[in-house]
Amino acid sequence: MSNSPLVSYTMRSPNRNSPRNHIIDTVTIHCMAGNLSVEACGAMFARASTGASSNYGIDSDGRVALYVDEGDRSWASSNPDNDHRAVTIEVASDSVSPYKVTEKALAVLIDLLVDICQRNGIKKLVWSNNKKDRVKHRGGCNMTCHRDFAAKACPGDYLYALEGDIASAVNKRLEEGKEVTQEQFNAMMEVYLTQQREKETSTWSKEAWKKAETAGVFDGSAPQAPLSREQASLVLDRLGLLPEGG
Ligand SMILES: [Zn+2]
Repeated sequence: MSNSPLVSYTMRSPNRNSPRNHIIDTVTIHCMAGNLSVEACGAMFARASTGASSNYGIDSDGRVALYVDEGDRSWASSNPDNDHRAVTIEVASDSVSPYKVTEKALAVLIDLLVDICQRNGIKKLVWSNNKKDRVKHRGGCNMTCHRDFAAKACPGDYLYALEGDIASAVNKRLEEGKEVTQEQFNAMMEVYLTQQREKETSTWSKEAWKKAETAGVFDGSAPQAPLSREQASLVLDRLGLLPEGG
């Protein structure tokens, strides 16, 4: 299992279970309830006595830290089952309600979520304002909150109110990632046409193809390649079907 290439700071926490016992199919966004740098948050999680961790941290400058490998379960959400299946992300915030986060941190959070979904085969994020939907993963819900499992404000009212918008932004990016550019299509078409040119004659056409080659209508190559209009005119001409002086 891989970690995000967006990580620029790593400080592994001993507060984890290795490996996690469930595939990653959920994300849990947390707020730090303080404007901690990725280093300060890492130093806190590096102490065994803290008894807590998260997979990733994002600070107010938008820097991304790795504290617990994605392959391991972090101790983040007061619920082992959740953390065995979720990637947990701590985002630096104000230290008072609604625990606002910076625009930069929010933008990077969306980048990180897109990356997590792409690498773990999560097709889209599904949010519900109903806690039961979230904890029971009803209707494909795959975003949970720390407050679902403990008497906490986390992720704070600011991020909580944005969870649906965050899901939409991530899903839009996941959809865009699936679109094929004209350049990519042209390259694929080139490969397809080459493959067609390399195919042998079909059994049913062998006899006629041989006759066509003998008569000089075709040169015997690429029997299954598409026929262009200019090639068709050449064929008609070779058969003497076109009037002279045209
Ligand atoms: Zn939390």
